Amino acid sequence: MDLIQDFLSKLDHYMGPFTIKQWGLGLLAIGFALQIYTEIRRKLEANAATGSTSHAKCLGCGWRGKISKFHRTCPKCGNIVTRTR
Ligand SMILES: [Zn+2]
Repeated sequence: MDLIQDFLSKLDHYMGPFTIKQWGLGLLAIGFALQIYTEIRRKLEANAATGSTSHAKCLGCGWRGKISKFHRTCPKCGNIVTRTR
């Protein structure tokens, strides 16, 4: 047990002005923020997949078609597309 206590006090020392509890809370907050971030990204991607498309033309290979507003590359050759509308 002494070893653990010693380790914890050393850990506490290395963590600077924050206690282990504060670090834990901070990590939880970061995890929470990350979860929200991925949730928002997933929703944006779902929106991109379902609607919000625009007409575009590829200058590289001449491809024309509808493309998601969030995508700027040609599905055929990978070049940057220009929107026609
Ligand atoms: Zn192309």
